[in-house]
Amino acid sequence: ASQLPALKLFNSAVRRQRKTAIVSQGQEYSYGQLLEDAVALRNRVGHGKEIDLTSSRRIAFLFPRSYEYVVAQWGVWSAGAVAVPLCTSHPVPELDYTLTDAEADTVIFHPSFRNRIEPLREKLRSLNWIELDDIPVRNTIDDVQFDQVPFLNSNGALIIYTSGTTGKPKGVLTTHANIEAQVESLLEAWKWTEDDKIIHVLPLHHVHGLINVLTCALWAGATCEFLEPFNADATWQRWMSEKKDLSLFMAVPTIYSKLAHAYHSMSPEEQTKATEACRPFRLMVSGSAALPETVFAEWERISGHRLLERYGMTEIGMALGNPYEGPRIPGTVGRPFPGVQVRIENEHGQNVVDQPDEAGELVIGGPQVFKEYWNKPEATRKEKVNGWFRTGDIVSRSQDGVFRILGRASVDIIKTGGYKVSALDIEREMLEHSAFRDVAVVGLPSEEWGEVVGAMVVLRQGHTIELSDLREFLKERLASYKIPRVLKVVDELPRNAMGKVNKKALRALF
Ligand code: ATP
Ligand code: MG
Repeated sequence: ASQLPALKLFNSAVRRQRKTAIVSQGQEYSYGQLLEDAVALRNRVGHGKEIDLTSSRRIAFLFPRSYEYVVAQWGVWSAGAVAVPLCTSHPVPELDYTLTDAEADTVIFHPSFRNRIEPLREKLRSLNWIELDDIPVRNTIDDVQFDQVPFLNSNGALIIYTSGTTGKPKGVLTTHANIEAQVESLLEAWKWTEDDKIIHVLPLHHVHGLINVLTCALWAGATCEFLEPFNADATWQRWMSEKKDLSLFMAVPTIYSKLAHAYHSMSPEEQTKATEACRPFRLMVSGSAALPETVFAEWERISGHRLLERYGMTEIGMALGNPYEGPRIPGTVGRPFPGVQVRIENEHGQNVVDQPDEAGELVIGGPQVFKEYWNKPEATRKEKVNGWFRTGDIVSRSQDGVFRILGRASVDIIKTGGYKVSALDIEREMLEHSAFRDVAVVGLPSEEWGEVVGAMVVLRQGHTIELSDLREFLKERLASYKIPRVLKVVDELPRNAMGKVNKKALRALF
């Protein structure tokens, strides 16, 4: 066993034990303490037994964005088990679904979730339940002799559930080797160093918050500060504080919209301070859903930063991104990240990646591609062929090699009167209209056209709109068959924790 490599993540922590790894509830936790607490938890979940690297047992955990979340994750990994992070906003039935589907044998949880854990504990009696309370900072820690747990890099490390945008969430099993490839690609692309400090406002049960922010930060030996709960005013206050120590920020488009909204309700003096507070950052990233060009432009006016939009998914980590250095083009997702192999397949399965502006399904290969859908061999066989993963997203690549996301084949590509139309393209144009705060475009069944374009919109305060106004506005911007024929105004679009719209559910609302 001593021949096996240790996890690079832990090695990196062993080398800088006095350094601050996590800031949580205003407390600073060192890498040394994190290692020590992870080992203590490992001994609790492992029942003091020898670590069995071939067991692939699953251990789930439910924590707010906090130091204890990280202890749970590292504790599970150091026990040689597969980590299953649970969603903090899930009601009991969804937690039940995840625990049962993942076949977890142990659940570690924070006392603040006791109310939701009790009924689960009643029902799932054979599981081992471990309550982990807030851990105090210990300033007196000597360097930990971290007895290196050997890792089979090919072993399962994580089961992350997809966002459930198109159906029931699927458990995506990634190995330690997959995570290493995903992390190292981003460390290189975004030039992470141990001097970085990132402020974390995202859910920790999806790749965006878990891999791109938390794990990249800890792998690089940097510092990750949790803001819990997320709140736009509190985020601005933290940025505008005396400490000018933050270098990175990553969020989903809806968070940038909320921050912009909070900015606009500040006094002019505060706004000047807020703009200044954005200066120390070296990079701000957006992803998980399409970034409206209006938000891109507004954020640049507010912060001086051109957001780096990137594209990725649970199954493959990050695949495409605008450049760290060089022009970031709104409405595009740039080029493949280091180590990512890309095909664009047309309906006949031909690779058209070298044919400019030809649309097709994005297919991804490389060491970062997940191992399998948990307990779904059929789905794995269908979506992953010879190591290449079919993303289900339709994309095109320009003459200059820049990728655009046209949307999901299943819901965003609308087939109307013999044309194929990208819902995302229409949404982008609609958001240029000042009346709209939020929009979502779907295909609605039509006997005459196959499908017609339907738009659901949220209006800004004090605005009204008729279908004829919208059609008039879009006439100059879009071909006639792309212009919505049905318009529905709602108070709010049903978006999930990552700001994504479930379009199947949306269609039913028309
Ligand atoms: P499910 O697979 O359960 O339906 P999901 O696909 O939303 O849910 P995730 O893996 O969290 O679950 O999200 C990946 C998807 O998010 C991608 O397939 C893509 O459709 C979308 N996405 C991510 N980044 C971008 C982006 N920059 N622009 C447009 N879409 C994006
Ligand atoms: Mg998906």
